[in-house]
Amino acid sequence: MKPHWKTELPESSIYLCAPVNALVEGIFEENIHLAEILKHGDFGLGTFDDLDGEMLILDGNCYQINSDGKVIEVDDQILTPFASVTFYSAGNHYELVEETPYVKFMKWLNCLLPSPNLFYAIRIEGKFAHMKVRSVPKQENYRPLSDIANEQVVFDFDHISGTLAGFFTPDFMSSLSVPGMHLHFLSEDRQHGGHLLECVPQKITIGIQMINKMELSLPMTQDYMKWDFHRDIRQDLDNVEK
Ligand SMILES: [Zn+2]
Repeated sequence: MKPHWKTELPESSIYLCAPVNALVEGIFEENIHLAEILKHGDFGLGTFDDLDGEMLILDGNCYQINSDGKVIEVDDQILTPFASVTFYSAGNHYELVEETPYVKFMKWLNCLLPSPNLFYAIRIEGKFAHMKVRSVPKQENYRPLSDIANEQVVFDFDHISGTLAGFFTPDFMSSLSVPGMHLHFLSEDRQHGGHLLECVPQKITIGIQMINKMELSLPMTQDYMKWDFHRDIRQDLDNVEK
């Protein structure tokens, strides 16, 4: 049974600065300024031009989590090929107060969503017994994203506090955004983070914002306009994002 869900909420929308299929095909330079992204939201995630680290946007601040493990707060002139944002305002809150293995936790989190056919912004704060995240080293343009999974740098942390933030995307939108749960982590001290691979939450609060609108920008670059997007990218996305 689904938990109680408040549906009388203001409408909210997610903004995608480009479809994710362009990134999967290796178009790593769309040169979209972060300033443009921030007009559409104060919360979200993505990557940077040349796939130079993982992006996390929290409360309007943008963090770049590099493959050497360093976290840098970046200014709004930095460039991105892919980011998705919303103005965060969670309508539903939940708590989890017992240590929960990752698979069980993900199942529970997915069960909180009243339908798999909407977007959700998800913000999780608290303590984790374990956190496994990754970042990627800077890449040359036009390398298929799936090649890069082998080069990701994985970071493991025990007993760490921080924030997981990101989105749930409906399965049938996999050419536009990463389907399912896609979360990035930033530690409380803003020193560590990355794209979530696994975690064991201990004591967390969860905010969930239902999103029923999507705004999508299509790049006007030569690369994007000339590319043939017929290939099914689903397997590649699974390899690199799960
Ligand atoms: Zn990610």
